[in-house]
Amino acid sequence: MIHLYALGSGSGGNAFLIDGPDGMLLLDAGFSTRELTRRAGLLKLDLGRLAGIALTHEHGDHASGARRLARRHGVPIVATDGTLRALALAADEPRATLRSASIIEIGPFQLESCRTLHDAAEPTAVVIETSGVRVGLAYDLGRPTMGLRHLLRLCDAVVIEANYDDVMLRTSNYPASVQHRIAGSGGHLSNRAAAELLTDLWHDGLSVVMLAHLSKQCNDPEVARRTVLDLLAPLGFRGTLAVAAQDVPVGPIPVAPSYARIRTAPQFELELT
Ligand SMILES: [Zn+2]
Ligand SMILES: [Zn+2]
Repeated sequence: MIHLYALGSGSGGNAFLIDGPDGMLLLDAGFSTRELTRRAGLLKLDLGRLAGIALTHEHGDHASGARRLARRHGVPIVATDGTLRALALAADEPRATLRSASIIEIGPFQLESCRTLHDAAEPTAVVIETSGVRVGLAYDLGRPTMGLRHLLRLCDAVVIEANYDDVMLRTSNYPASVQHRIAGSGGHLSNRAAAELLTDLWHDGLSVVMLAHLSKQCNDPEVARRTVLDLLAPLGFRGTLAVAAQDVPVGPIPVAPSYARIRTAPQFELELT
């Protein structure tokens, strides 16, 4: 069993945290070190238990507090080669490199990644496994690729971008060019696109979905929830559907290893013997 937290999410900053029995992993650090520490304090989380800080990409709303926080706690920044280069780390700042199709270990956490479509150096989605639980996180992406669907397979919990509602974007004050950029293949996922991706990812063990990176101008938490639930509930989803907020932390959300995977693993071994 692990606990998932959203310290905050939106264009003003993104940070999520996985708290397991043997350590914590921060996923993105898009607030100041002081703000990240304050929010962790509100949740009674001790950042001294951090094993590392994984970053999806170098944009400020995902990485602004990472270097100072990593230095303060003596933990590595874990990111793709392109993201690490964009951050221009000094020689003495510890780091670990995420590579597509390979798994790296950071303390008790195993990380897999895959490239996403976004206007950054080498943006990535990540999957973290620890204590038998598999958590996926993907946002700031224009559209889901086959690689992303493969990465996010069989997750117990998925944190997924639900950036905008199609109608609210079209009727917003944004000029047409900005609307196109947001909805384009290098932009952001709509509520509808997130819901459709989640139906592709659906399996019995998917027990937690957290919607993330909601636009303040072009989305509404209840609209996002409803759009996703309308597609997921008919498939049998009865789990936790949470919406990460920009200004207040959300959590703890417990995530247990899915029964489906526990069930299938021993059967598979039995068949082999
Ligand atoms: Zn970005
Ligand atoms: Zn972002």
